[in-house]
Amino acid sequence: MTEVTPPLSDGHRALKSPDISFEFFPPKTEEMERSLWETIKRLAPLLPNFVSVTYGAGGSTRERTHATIARILSETTLTPAAHLTCVGAARGEIDDIVCRYHDVGVRHIVALRGDPPGGIGTPYSGHPQGYATSAELVAGIRKRYPDIEVSVSAYPEKHPESSGFDADIDMLEAKVDAGATRAITQVFFDNDLYFRYLDRVRARGIAIPIVPGIMPMHNFKQARGFVTRAGTSVPDWIAEKFEGLDDDAETRKLVAATIAAGQVQKLRKHGVDTFHFYTMNRADLVFAISHLLGIRPHGAQKAA
Ligand code: FAD
Repeated sequence: MTEVTPPLSDGHRALKSPDISFEFFPPKTEEMERSLWETIKRLAPLLPNFVSVTYGAGGSTRERTHATIARILSETTLTPAAHLTCVGAARGEIDDIVCRYHDVGVRHIVALRGDPPGGIGTPYSGHPQGYATSAELVAGIRKRYPDIEVSVSAYPEKHPESSGFDADIDMLEAKVDAGATRAITQVFFDNDLYFRYLDRVRARGIAIPIVPGIMPMHNFKQARGFVTRAGTSVPDWIAEKFEGLDDDAETRKLVAATIAAGQVQKLRKHGVDTFHFYTMNRADLVFAISHLLGIRPHGAQKAA
């Protein structure tokens, strides 16, 4: 069992220990592979609910995602979740990927449409024989493998291609109707956006967990560019906190941990009890934030 201490000392009653999960990306080089495995070794004792491994744009990491997932299964007791998108492949190819995952023991897939093959901002065109939407992919997986749990995406600021929140939540509803049982949000930094989105989703009668996706920004400039392209707004107050730190990685790290820790603690105060961390394959900040949430490595002693 994860050892927990009360997460907040502000007079609130002690809350249930939060559930956490971690996202990794498949490493490109041996050096990156070594670093990922150090990260996994450091984070595994926090007993995450699951760890997910992304699928590169256009299916570019198909084999590397599979290899990473297979290694997690064979060398750890963690529960892996494989990301999979509809992009650039016929249904039969996607079905084969799912079948291979099922054969090695994977029972959780994060099913996505994927970004347009021409890049974010260009019109999306699916493979002519492919799954046209994420909801079709969810249905395809669940029909053939009812024992595979399927998670999907959710967008507190709506997806950049969506005409509005209604259309966005229509898609979420279609994915739930197709068998998705959990949504993980796109990264966000303003908790009010998450709570407003949650209100909209619940008002539509969608009851699945909408797990907040939290990204500690190790490298603010790089992260800001990346998340902005994906439709996430970065509040000015956050940019101000990183001002003047371009050449000071150590201080940036402390600032990033403080901001993300503040975000999760505020979410926690408002009853959120599940968090998905975009780790960027690094352990330090996520470990520290988990610690602040009261999560201790398995086997560690709780403070007296
Ligand atoms: P969907 O949920 O299917 O759609 C998102 C929204 O876009 C819908 O609400 C809908 O309103 C709108 N939309 C969809 N299609 C159209 C259309 N044709 N016309 C108009 N509007 C449309 N990408 C990867 O490549 N690999 C990954 O591993 C990966 N992991 C992710 C994990 C999470 C938790 C999240 C939030 C995103 C991830 N992505 C990943 C990014 C994702 O693939 C992109 O955001 C993609 O553009 C949408 O895929 P989706 O499944 O989220 O879309």
